[in-house]
Amino acid sequence: MSVRKDIFSTIKNYETIIIHRHQRPDPDAIGSQVGLAEILRASYPEKRVYQVGGAVEGLEFLAEMNEIEDSIYKDALVIVTDTANSPRISDDRYSLGDKLIKIDHHPNDEPYGNLVWINTKASSCSEMIVDFYDEFQDELVMTDNAARLLYAGIVGDTGRFLYPATTPHTLETAAELRGYSFDATGLNRKLEEMSLSVAKLAGYVYQALAVDEQGAAQVIISNELLNENGIVDAQTAAIVALPGAIDEVLAWGIFVQQPEGYYRVRLRSKGPVINEIAKRHHGGGHPLASGANARDMEEVNVIYREIQAICKAFRKQQIK
Ligand code: AMP
Repeated sequence: MSVRKDIFSTIKNYETIIIHRHQRPDPDAIGSQVGLAEILRASYPEKRVYQVGGAVEGLEFLAEMNEIEDSIYKDALVIVTDTANSPRISDDRYSLGDKLIKIDHHPNDEPYGNLVWINTKASSCSEMIVDFYDEFQDELVMTDNAARLLYAGIVGDTGRFLYPATTPHTLETAAELRGYSFDATGLNRKLEEMSLSVAKLAGYVYQALAVDEQGAAQVIISNELLNENGIVDAQTAAIVALPGAIDEVLAWGIFVQQPEGYYRVRLRSKGPVINEIAKRHHGGGHPLASGANARDMEEVNVIYREIQAICKAFRKQQIK
């Protein structure tokens, strides 16, 4: 039996289903989590289905979380979407359930859970949820709101169908979702929207960006700068892709200092594989989009030197 069939029959066997996703959620985390929750609610009105996790940080227009007591986990099925490793799961009560399912499109660095369905070829975890719906659509019900959430997840993780993970199947999936009734233009605008203060931070990113001759780039955003502009860490998502628009830039790191002093590291690449760097610094992610943490400026410098090294090796390979 395929793992999807296993997951489907497991879902049918449980009366209570609690769905988690990763910390610092992005549209794909919320889209896959709540998109699946909405499908299950519409398909099985008699089941109790919850979406849980910490603050949705600026993505309230997508969905809000449910607050639930610990006792609800007893005999419950827990599903975690879009989360490669267990320390990143938002709300660590995920382990209190009766059974745990992992559904994800990141490399399977930590295969936690009783059932694990991974598809690293999927553009997004939301695309996988639509695949799941399509396979079992005789019994499952898609709603307009589920379609909206899943569409947001795909748009978010593909950078509006720009990144290489966008396949013909991704576009077919998006087309299927657009057949439902929701305001896709308004949704896209909401996903792209930034405040004036974040726009100013974007100006700073372009001003302060350092690029070496191999295309390795970095910018450091201090906590002081964030405070001065009234920006919280979650809003920096809007500026992470910006260096990619510069022709000289091949791979880059955006180092965002946290109130505690350490740096959240956001790594992106147009070619050299950067998730191995992320893994060496308490992080992980996709080959071309990863995240990590740096204790202090010394570790920031180490990470930048590692980016420089992979850019150099990549250019050398291209010349051959
Ligand atoms: P971000 O820069 O936070 O948007 O993250 C880019 C990608 O890296 C996402 O797909 C995340 O799942 C992954 N990622 C970010 N931070 C971490 C982390 N600390 N550990 C593992 N994966 C991460």
